[in-house]
Amino acid sequence: MQIENFIDGKFIPPVNKDYMDNYNPAENVVIATIPNSTSEDVDLAVKAASRAQLAWSNLTIKDRIQWLRKIAEGLELRKTEIASLESIDTGKPLTLAAKVDANRSVSNFNFFAEHAEQLGELRFEMPDATNYVKRKPVGIVGLITPWNLPLYLLTWKIAPALVMGNTIIAKPSEMTPLTANLLCEVLASIDFPDGVINIVQGLGKNAGQAIVEHPKIRAISFTGGTDTGKIVAATAAPMFKKLSLELGGKNATIILDDADLAAAAKGAARAAFTNSGQVCLCGSRILVADSIYQVFIDLLVMEIEAMKIGNPRNESTDIGSVISQTHMAKVLSYIKLAVEDGGKILTGGSRLLMPEPNQEGAFVAPTLIEGLPIDSRCATEEIFGPVATIHRFATDQDAIAMANATQYGLAGSVWTTDTERGKAVAEQVESGVLWVNTWLHRDLRTPFGGVKNSGVGREGGDWSLNFFSELSNICVKND
Ligand code: NAD
Repeated sequence: MQIENFIDGKFIPPVNKDYMDNYNPAENVVIATIPNSTSEDVDLAVKAASRAQLAWSNLTIKDRIQWLRKIAEGLELRKTEIASLESIDTGKPLTLAAKVDANRSVSNFNFFAEHAEQLGELRFEMPDATNYVKRKPVGIVGLITPWNLPLYLLTWKIAPALVMGNTIIAKPSEMTPLTANLLCEVLASIDFPDGVINIVQGLGKNAGQAIVEHPKIRAISFTGGTDTGKIVAATAAPMFKKLSLELGGKNATIILDDADLAAAAKGAARAAFTNSGQVCLCGSRILVADSIYQVFIDLLVMEIEAMKIGNPRNESTDIGSVISQTHMAKVLSYIKLAVEDGGKILTGGSRLLMPEPNQEGAFVAPTLIEGLPIDSRCATEEIFGPVATIHRFATDQDAIAMANATQYGLAGSVWTTDTERGKAVAEQVESGVLWVNTWLHRDLRTPFGGVKNSGVGREGGDWSLNFFSELSNICVKND
């Protein structure tokens, strides 16, 4: 398959005619070539978005909502294909891609269509004047996303940006270009207005950097690693662009001494190893109360060892490959480091060699490590793979201090049979998203995002709609 850029409603090759290979990491085979786009392609996309801006922003919000619903219908018809492309592009199980990626890619459009329908008018009365707030689009916005939930995260930005009247230059990860391309096919099939959504494929340092640097792109919504986020912020801030940064995490799963241990072990295993630990919200540090530590470990290891690792195409597979050979090497290097630092591997700990057709695939066994200091590198740096460390604590306050002892502050979960105690602990964890007795339970109206080095700003519901709008307050003196 040869992927092209989608600019001004047309599939076009990159200006430099340079393409790169795209791999299926579970089989280590090339499945597509994609444009290695440069600033010249971003320029073309910006010109198209500029031409489209006025007509798109002049549509009524009702008309734009109708377009969101049409896109959702178009994607709905191709859900099976979305799941299959996402699975071969990322190595994640097909069943997971169907349940999570394909469903959310469609529901993001339906959700923001519905949410925008309920957008209220903002008015503030004074004794002698009335203020009303006019929402305007920001203009041309740049959307940059990672590989772990490709179309899910891209549409999470595209839908609110569209409905608020912006035109879009988006760049999916160079490792997962396929479903963004499918979205473009859907746009072409429904005669979506040219130039409103432009997709530029390619590397972050070329196409991504060019988007962030472009003076006509007035907002950047970025999801990715914290180190990349620093570069994006350093480039965009002096240009006073609106910035939303959704970055890395090193989230704690806290098991209090009164937890339902069976449920907590299931929850902790799922939080640590869903999508091979490649979800920003994954609980990669498991903190367990002293008095239940040993019993809990036995249950957790049982849960982990019951997970089926294998060919992502098989329905029974729970865990597929990691995203690439390079990422596998990074994950394995952390496991080696953990052992050098005195960690004990309770389960996993190595690459898994699979039968055909996955014999060359990037499979790493779900790995649980105990005995590492809470400030060791493996317990504080984001590995973003199927590796979790487990630590014991004496009091709830110790658990909170341990949870907060990282540069990150994205998410976390607390497990207890005492809801009030769970809420008290959750409220003291320095993170943007906390769960009590559950994980990855999402209402799309709620604020989503991190504190500390996990990001700036919030996505979801009103927060997304506000980010993709400029608000003008107009104060009218009464007669
Ligand atoms: P990454 O930072 O390497 O890349 C993310 C995107 O940024 C890609 O499209 C990449 O091409 C682009 N990019 C790279 N350099 C760039 C530059 N200089 N300018 C502009 N764009 C550039 O991240 P990744 O490896 O693709 O994804 C994994 C990371 O994403 C993890 O740290 C994970 O925690 C994070 N993540 C965060 C969230 C969240 O909501 N907070 C969600 C998913 C993933």
